[in-house]
Amino acid sequence: MIPVTKSFLPPLEEYTAQVQRAFDNGWLTNRGALVLELEDKLTEYLNLDQSRILLMNNGTIPLQIALKCLAQGGEVITTPFSYVATTSAIVWEGCTPVFVDIHPEYLTIDETKIEAAITEKTTCILATHVFGNPCNVEEIERIAKKHNLKVIYDGAHAFGVSYQGQSIFEYGDVTTCSFHATKLFHTGEGGAIFCKDPDLFHKLYYSHNFGHDGPLAFHGLGINGKMSEMQAAMGLAVLPHMSEILEERSRVVSWYSEYLKMDSLVRINIRKETNWNTVYYPVLLESENQLIEVQKSLQTAEVFPRRYFYPSLTQLPYVHQSTCEIASDISSRILCLPLFYGLSEKDVKGIASIFNNF
Ligand SMILES: *Cc1c(COP(=O)(O)O)cnc(C)c1O
Repeated sequence: MIPVTKSFLPPLEEYTAQVQRAFDNGWLTNRGALVLELEDKLTEYLNLDQSRILLMNNGTIPLQIALKCLAQGGEVITTPFSYVATTSAIVWEGCTPVFVDIHPEYLTIDETKIEAAITEKTTCILATHVFGNPCNVEEIERIAKKHNLKVIYDGAHAFGVSYQGQSIFEYGDVTTCSFHATKLFHTGEGGAIFCKDPDLFHKLYYSHNFGHDGPLAFHGLGINGKMSEMQAAMGLAVLPHMSEILEERSRVVSWYSEYLKMDSLVRINIRKETNWNTVYYPVLLESENQLIEVQKSLQTAEVFPRRYFYPSLTQLPYVHQSTCEIASDISSRILCLPLFYGLSEKDVKGIASIFNNF
């Protein structure tokens, strides 16, 4: 069986050595030594220059906290082509998602269509660096400044991506990331928020810890978004393997390029000046029918790609129905192929030949 992804598992003794530290400390959560160390190591690994990192218990709570602090229950301009959490967090926070269609090749929000969607209720733009491909961050910043809007990036796919020589997490008012088991870098469950502004960082910080200002006082409203020491232990065990993980994944990507005949398949276009992270291997088929046929053949061969992301988020039952034609079209015929540490050349050849037979 070949799934779309497999979690990277560090050698068990490396993980238990980290967990042992938590046992020795007798300290399991509330920003213990392991969480603090992981924050330091990630700051260094990601080359964060202006932004600070705050680790959290998953990649959805930082979206909710950012929206709570910045969107104020208003209209949030967002992309219909992302994981459901991007939209559900908006609705969960009592805000209204306003969908703007995507760019047909980059698959990120089409910045040229943002201004037409702005109303006096708009407070925020929440866009996803989908498949690790950066949004047009300069243009989005210009629009946001002009209309006095906040910018949140869902960077769940963008771990390690740099744009113009700088971590992609340095852009926007806030960027979030997910360290879920299926993501490029993981802590089992986990996530983080990145923010440059010290006052906003302070607000995000207390918001993720019940609003506490010490044991007896409160700065304001909060929730529990804290990462535990066991999660940080996994992160500390996985992080030293990142270069090995990335090398392996690049090899898989180059095998796909070598063996897949691309005449009727389209790959996404990565924005110029991006150092991409091999996070997914999406291919666009000619039609949804063709996709379903290919998927059937792959299934017979025990290969299970995923339809990331289908359906378009405009179709969710709890949003105001709207049309984004490009996102609907792309969602109906995009397939993410298996890509993980340990996938063999033989497997990639086999998957490619099923495609090439179509
Ligand atoms: C995975 C993912 C999330 C949610 O992260 P969790 O850690 O699973 O809560 C949010 N947005 C995108 C784009 C994702 O892929």
